Amino acid sequence: MSAYHPLNEKEAIEIALTLEGVFAPGAKLVSREIGDGNLNLVFHISDTQSSQSIILKQALPYAKVVGESWPLTLDRARIESEALILEGELAPGLVPKVYKYDAELALTVMEDLSDHVIMRQGLISNNRYPLFAEHISTFLAQTLFFTSDLGMNQQSKKLRVRDFINPELCKITEDLIFDDPYKDAETNNFEEVIRDEAQALWGDGSLHFEVALLREKFLTHAQALLHGDLHTGSIFIKSDSTKIIDPEFAYYGPMGFDIGAIIANLLLNYSSREHWNSDAASTDEYRTYLLETIRDIWTKFEAKFRVLWAEHCEDSLAKSAPGYLDDYLRRVLQDTIGFAGCKMVRRIVGLAHVADIDKITDASTREQAQRLALSIGKSLIRLNRRAASIEELIEKAQSSI
Ligand code: ADP
Ligand code: MG
Ligand code: MG
Ligand code: MG
Repeated sequence: MSAYHPLNEKEAIEIALTLEGVFAPGAKLVSREIGDGNLNLVFHISDTQSSQSIILKQALPYAKVVGESWPLTLDRARIESEALILEGELAPGLVPKVYKYDAELALTVMEDLSDHVIMRQGLISNNRYPLFAEHISTFLAQTLFFTSDLGMNQQSKKLRVRDFINPELCKITEDLIFDDPYKDAETNNFEEVIRDEAQALWGDGSLHFEVALLREKFLTHAQALLHGDLHTGSIFIKSDSTKIIDPEFAYYGPMGFDIGAIIANLLLNYSSREHWNSDAASTDEYRTYLLETIRDIWTKFEAKFRVLWAEHCEDSLAKSAPGYLDDYLRRVLQDTIGFAGCKMVRRIVGLAHVADIDKITDASTREQAQRLALSIGKSLIRLNRRAASIEELIEKAQSSI
């Protein structure tokens, strides 16, 4: 079984039975493949006689995209398992436990989080998560600070940058987020009714200038170890618990890319509310909840980052330079706003969409949501380098309605 091949459910059970201290010897296990099968297989394996269960995630050697397959490195399974382990050390309780990684099979065995829901689905179902901003700001502050040159030995950091070189997955981001939406690319995927919006994007040189600067930052700014794909589909949540999954895009990049990813996905949900709420008052209320969550995420992230800097900063020159930290955080905020904008635009015009908007059944409500998301996204891209406060992002979301 050791040579790489995609596992079937029976083989997944056989592997689960070999794990030490997980299932009782001779346990009767059942396996279900629950992934969406585009990039990875995800097996849910449970004991029919006890409540014990685990997840086996196996990388596939290709990605299925618009009917075609392209080869994709299995090394991303190593990156995912190493990132999960490191994130678990830096942000205890906020990622699934990793029980085992098998390099040959590109397989990670991890904690089963089926008692949580995927946050995108939770938001679509009108749930609210009052602890989310607290949890995600801890995850962001801890993982970003302690993997940056501020929070770790600068020589060790270079070696870690090397361990997380992830060119193939980064290329997906570089193309699908920072390139294709801004030209008439074959991978683009938008509804014909908003062709005017797509064409406006393709011809907007001043917007291209801002996106090119953000793309350059994504390509060159090895600031911290990022999750790299931190949308609301990579977050498992319930009222008292948040768990971040799926860091296969992890690499050293600009901190604002992770923070912006979360904010963008909250704003995509914000753009979709007219469908998910039953009346104008509850739509407004839920939008207010989302904006408060965004404000809290940034404010709490900044406060926690300042404490980490005060207690653990390894860069003595930066510490002795008045105003350095303020300047650093202002740049992270500006990046956050710019990347959030890019992430919104690509979900409307680019290849991969979000269910929050795609699942809106009424065509004209859906079109309105798409136009709103594009309007917010573009205004954030234009704002990014000028911003000095998270309030400016919130104001853009409010004034776009
Ligand atoms: P992909 O990289 O293919 O997107 P994910 O890691 O996001 O894979 O997992 C795909 C789906 O599999 C998730 O949306 C979730 O439904 C399920 N899943 C993944 N990890 C777990 C887990 N630890 N516990 C329970 N379900 C999981
Ligand atoms: Mg998927
Ligand atoms: Mg995923
Ligand atoms: Mg993934």
